[in-house]
Amino acid sequence: MLSHPAVDVAVYVHFPWCLQRCPYCDFATEAVAPRAIPHGPYAAAVTSELALRGRSLGDLRAATLFFGGGTPSLWEPSELGRVVRAVEALGAPDEVTVECNPTSLTEARASALRDHGVTRLSVGVQSLRDRHLRYLGRLHDAAGALRAVSLAVASGLRVSADLMYGLDAQPEEELVEDALALLDLGVEHLSCYALTVEPSTRFGELARKGRLPRATDDHVAGLYLALEGALSARGLEHYEVSNYALPGARARHNVAYWRGMAYLGLGAGAVGCVPEGASARRWRNLPDPAAYASALGDGALPPAEEERLDPPTRVREALLLGLRCADGTDLAGLRRATGLDPLEGRRDALARALERGNVARDGDVLRIPRARWLLADDITAGLF
Ligand code: SF4
Repeated sequence: MLSHPAVDVAVYVHFPWCLQRCPYCDFATEAVAPRAIPHGPYAAAVTSELALRGRSLGDLRAATLFFGGGTPSLWEPSELGRVVRAVEALGAPDEVTVECNPTSLTEARASALRDHGVTRLSVGVQSLRDRHLRYLGRLHDAAGALRAVSLAVASGLRVSADLMYGLDAQPEEELVEDALALLDLGVEHLSCYALTVEPSTRFGELARKGRLPRATDDHVAGLYLALEGALSARGLEHYEVSNYALPGARARHNVAYWRGMAYLGLGAGAVGCVPEGASARRWRNLPDPAAYASALGDGALPPAEEERLDPPTRVREALLLGLRCADGTDLAGLRRATGLDPLEGRRDALARALERGNVARDGDVLRIPRARWLLADDITAGLF
């Protein structure tokens, strides 16, 4: 009898609660009082979903595991640990990351997470300036962020930090100082995102009324370049438009996602995507945690929105994600996965992009040179 090899998946677990909603955030999350979080029942629901999905998807191997949210550092570590152990039954992941907010990270919690199999913490610092943290509506101040990062590093876990830029009246030197201060504390990875204003958020509402002070596009570009110069000088690799790592410290879960690996999303509002022949099936669990848990309590997969990605859509998505990375898009791999020539229908556009130096081709690898990453979205759109 023929046996099929296990499919590698990047496993994502969504924890859908935060202590309060930040005014710029449009993630699937609800504000909750700590005592109202159903720690045990939610862990039971997630592990049930894992078992049911495993049965319907066949033989899977967990390549990486990422707890995102929401604020998964609010989850009782022993309950989060139950989920880690259930996922480990699909093969030990290379990396187990938990997103943390400075307000919910203590020394005891960091070591408990480590004891439950977590290997990496991603701390939502955003800024080391109190005025910027107030503008972003965050619950922590700069001193709290520094404390959280220090204790995360002291716990022996690998540590990444998130920074936001493009805030009102943000001098380049301050952003660079913040990033370097985090490296000095022992952070090995930085995710640096320009503030985007989503229409459905409080910031979106303020922007529509003309009451949200913001940096201009030129200022945002200057901040991006200042950060890139300073972090490259400190030996960090700028390996994706918004991500920097010391050698060997890339975020393996995110890299798996950008390379188009199948991903298994578990939890309320989580998204999963697995190949089915040359196409792929993507689903999104409904975001209401109560409806999610109640379906699983009845022994059924939770309600989900589903879409089928045909081969041309898979090619477009792979180009979108891959061209934001230093490694670029692997055209041969994409051809094998979809049965399509990824360049079909875009040869003229590609020739123009190559001629302008917006794109470089090295055999079967297509990439945008780092010096053009500020224009990555426009360049990719030109290839569609
Ligand atoms: S803590 Fe994070 S997930 Fe929660 S509302 Fe703020 S930005 Fe969104």
